[in-house]
Amino acid sequence: MHELSVAESALKIARRVSAAHGNVKVTGIRLSVGSFDHLDDEALCFAFEMLADETVCRGAAIAIERHPFKATCGACGEKSESEGIAEVCPACGSAELKWEGEEATRVVSVDLDLPDVNEGV
Ligand SMILES: [Zn+2]
Repeated sequence: MHELSVAESALKIARRVSAAHGNVKVTGIRLSVGSFDHLDDEALCFAFEMLADETVCRGAAIAIERHPFKATCGACGEKSESEGIAEVCPACGSAELKWEGEEATRVVSVDLDLPDVNEGV
């Protein structure tokens, strides 16, 4: 299950960031999902919740950023962007499209419940 491995690595990164700040609670994790990565958001959140239970990441909100697909037409050179992979160039109808996109799914940021907010608790 792909979502599980993404959730695992996100958790690992978030725990490392938390550890660097004295194991404070993680309140949110922002992920950038590669355009070609067919991740199921719900499955990812579910996997994360399961793994994060009993850790500093318990209850952390997962935010998922997606990027549009970008294509350059091999026939007319038209550059286009779309939410999903289109079959043909929107300008000339050629199927000679070269796709590019954010390749890797990665953690963009980790939000921490920093002690300066909760001082004295
Ligand atoms: Zn074209």
